[in-house]
Amino acid sequence: FSYPMPVNEPIHSYAPGSAERKALQQTLKELKSQQADIPMYIGGEEVRTGNTVAINPPHERNHVLGHFHMGDESHVQQAIDAALAAKEGWANMSWESRANIFLRAADLISAKYRYHMNGTTMLGQSKNAFQAEIDSACELIDFLRFNVHYLSEIYKQQPISAPGMHNRLEWRPLEGFVLAVTPFNFTAIGGNLPASAALCGNVVVWKPANTQVYSAQMFMKILKEAGLPDGVINLIYVDGPTLGKVSFAHRDFAGVHFTGSTGVFNQMWKTIGENIPNYRSYPRIVGETGGKDFVIAHRSAKAEVVATALLRGAFEYQGQKCSAASRAYIPSNLAADVKRLLVAGVNSFKMGSTEEFGNFINAVIDERSFDKIATYINNAKQDANASILVGGVCDKTEGYFIQPTVIEAKYPKYVTMCEEIFGPVLTIYIYDEHQFEATLELVDTTSPYALTGAVIAQDRYAVELATQKLRNAAGNFYINDKPTGAVVGQQPFGGARASGTNDKAGSALNLYRWLSARTIKETF
Ligand code: GLU
Repeated sequence: FSYPMPVNEPIHSYAPGSAERKALQQTLKELKSQQADIPMYIGGEEVRTGNTVAINPPHERNHVLGHFHMGDESHVQQAIDAALAAKEGWANMSWESRANIFLRAADLISAKYRYHMNGTTMLGQSKNAFQAEIDSACELIDFLRFNVHYLSEIYKQQPISAPGMHNRLEWRPLEGFVLAVTPFNFTAIGGNLPASAALCGNVVVWKPANTQVYSAQMFMKILKEAGLPDGVINLIYVDGPTLGKVSFAHRDFAGVHFTGSTGVFNQMWKTIGENIPNYRSYPRIVGETGGKDFVIAHRSAKAEVVATALLRGAFEYQGQKCSAASRAYIPSNLAADVKRLLVAGVNSFKMGSTEEFGNFINAVIDERSFDKIATYINNAKQDANASILVGGVCDKTEGYFIQPTVIEAKYPKYVTMCEEIFGPVLTIYIYDEHQFEATLELVDTTSPYALTGAVIAQDRYAVELATQKLRNAAGNFYINDKPTGAVVGQQPFGGARASGTNDKAGSALNLYRWLSARTIKETF
């Protein structure tokens, strides 16, 4: 049974005065007036522990949207038990039935819960309407639909037979349970990591970041309404060490689908490695981690194109994308123009609450993030090796607001050219316009990461040279564009080196990791 390639979900614009803007505003109002009481979902049960954590909009830190119930080790164990109990029924269900649950969930988001997915993301994660729309509506819907198509293509792959025999591949799910550990910065990733593994017939324990629980629960409710059987995906809220302690020690641990920091991922590998003799099978370890994503402009580039790629690539969603442009190499002939455009661009941004639709910049996710980003900025203010070109104001009185900031580094390995900051901070370095090739070498060797990157040039030889020299410097490479905003089905997403296992999200490459094929030969 084949599912054809879907089309990407159209993006709603929420234009001023439109009915959809009014509807979204109305949803925001309703959400804000309620006090959500958010349980964990284990098996068929809603689990409330009474150990609650408040949910606050990052842009309005004293407002309480509701609470969620934190679990402990016993809840991790219960979630694993519930998953394993659901395993046989789920794995034996016809693939069309499994697929149709996720296709139905996509339709429910598209037509019924779009404003709720966007509303919870706008309030809980401080994403503006456009950033929420391309994430919690479009990208999540696309993941669900494209995965079904890609999996149907995988299932069609069969070996040849010969006279007197028949050979086939049985595309089994993994034996055991899969852990999905998901970040705050994309609601779509929160949805995709558990859903893609489950689509392949696996059972899942899903732990989202505490700062994404608000929209994660919304997706969980949609999956249930779409008909997902109890126990197939179990949503729990626990701290990382508690999760790791129970699940990585479990004999039936079959794999982890992770997006988050390189440090946490490295720790996972280590713990999993230590436990290898205890597992039934070698676990699949799939992760997308950090980035220090570059933009290199060539002397033939247009300053406007460079500045636009940087302003959008570095500052959309406050730079909290793994893919965000965070170090830029500007040739000396363009320096003055690019700097002028960056300053003008940043000064034109409106910053504030996501409930005011004109605000392009909103708050960063939480106090820890705020403090970390502010420290980099404040250090740069005092460092003779750097100067602040524009921005630099950090204020957490009302919410965690950091003005988009451009730092000019006086030498190419200044700390903010090397380390991941995960906030609205872009560092630029001006290089001698005749040193393009040497600068490409610098781009390749400055950071341990290799997630995204971009070259901006009109000269086709420069494009070609950059494409070749930076072959291993980015898993997603953009020519004359910003390095963010990969679209499912169009730019499969993922990086290598310290940026992860490069198992391209939203593609067949990723789905293969959740399958363990059995070869069956029958002789006649
Ligand atoms: N896929 C997103 C993009 O292309 C980034 C995902 C992430 O931040 O993890 O911008």
